[in-house]
Amino acid sequence: MLEKKHLEFREKVRAFALEKIEPAAAALDLEQRFPDEHMQPLTEMGLLSMLIPEKYGGKPTDTVTYSIAVEEISRVCGSTGIMLAAHNSLGTFPILYFGTEEQRQKYLPRAARGELIAFGLSEPDAGSDAGGTKTHAHREGDYWVVNGSKCWITSATRAFATIAVARTSDDPQDKHITSFIFERDWEGYSVGKKENKLGLRGSDTAFLHFDDMKVPQANLLGKVGEGFKQMLITLDGGRISIGAMALGLAQGAFDCALRYAAKRVQFGKPIAHFQAIGHTLADMATEIEAARLMIYEASAMKDAGVPFSRQSAMCKLYASEVGTRTAAKAITVLGSIGYNTGVYPVERIWRDVKLCEIGEGTSEIQRLVIARDLLKSLEKVG
Ligand SMILES: Cc1cc2nc3c(=O)[nH]c(=O)nc-3n(C[C@H](O)[C@H](O)[C@H](O)COP(=O)(O)OP(=O)(O)OC[C@H]3O[C@@H](n4cnc5c(N)ncnc54)[C@H](O)[C@@H]3O)c2cc1C
Repeated sequence: MLEKKHLEFREKVRAFALEKIEPAAAALDLEQRFPDEHMQPLTEMGLLSMLIPEKYGGKPTDTVTYSIAVEEISRVCGSTGIMLAAHNSLGTFPILYFGTEEQRQKYLPRAARGELIAFGLSEPDAGSDAGGTKTHAHREGDYWVVNGSKCWITSATRAFATIAVARTSDDPQDKHITSFIFERDWEGYSVGKKENKLGLRGSDTAFLHFDDMKVPQANLLGKVGEGFKQMLITLDGGRISIGAMALGLAQGAFDCALRYAAKRVQFGKPIAHFQAIGHTLADMATEIEAARLMIYEASAMKDAGVPFSRQSAMCKLYASEVGTRTAAKAITVLGSIGYNTGVYPVERIWRDVKLCEIGEGTSEIQRLVIARDLLKSLEKVG
């Protein structure tokens, strides 16, 4: 399925990840430190501008190439992987896809230079049910006045801008939601508490608060009332990248387990030669390969411009559950040393990969999306 250009890119980005990203991965996790040192190499490699056209300073690629990038970076560092995926898929994509030419010219060159853009959908009372957004915007002349909070925002402490939705109706029952581009420097915009998380501890996740924040009309993204639809379109693409992140983490755990099982001797032979361990490795490798094919298929469908919502939900659902299963099995293969922090990466991966079952729609929500789409296709057939 992959073309020569994809295979060549994989070699290149794999070498880059091993040289520039992996050495810091364990320390970022241990110290809960944002990967500042990765920003310049990632920018130079073009990995923060993979969806941005050249005229705005980007190095655009197809979605298959982008998925390979997220996979390979996550294979060595989940915290850097999620930062990369959130910036490209959720930060730059909506501006490119729904933004005006002025907005593209203003924000995309900065994003291509490695300045991060965040995505603010989740709120304390609106998680899976994002239509329950409480952040509110009302029009006052040429401005919108915004009040509310967003939570769990990836890279909130670093992002210079955030794509966020707010309710633009005074009726609490009315799901009239609109997207905006907010800037960090504006009065009324503040970054809240940084979360202390199970995994992805090198990725900053924090609250954003908007307190009587004045937003120029020029920062409305798309049309009033279309925010919810825009977010669903954005998440269709984002879910492929979360699948790719889970795939990379699973591959990282598997690589470690395979190498360990081939050299760890018990009862006079390497444990890989015991059928129980050999079959565990075989199952892990098979599931990873299946997840990879699903991710590349969804990516290729996006590139081909055909509907891909179902495939995006399916690949995210499958890859993230393969990720958590694989990481747990990798710890089993390594025994006690796998349970230890800082010796082998498998326990970090186990903690990191759980997020892939939660972020950008939980596994339950993916099943809901898939089931709805299945029923819709039945209606079409009649
Ligand atoms: C590390 C991290 C990074 C994140 N980054 C971002 C970000 O950058 N931007 C952003 O906007 N958000 C982000 N999120 C938030 C994330 O997308 C939400 O947490 C997620 O959508 C789930 O929402 P919730 O936590 O409120 O869970 P809830 O919606 O409260 O769900 C709780 C449980 O109920 C289940 N459930 C809910 N509704 C249903 C239903 N209809 N049917 C069956 N089960 C259901 C869920 O599956 C889940 O198991 C991030 C979260 C984390 C942990």
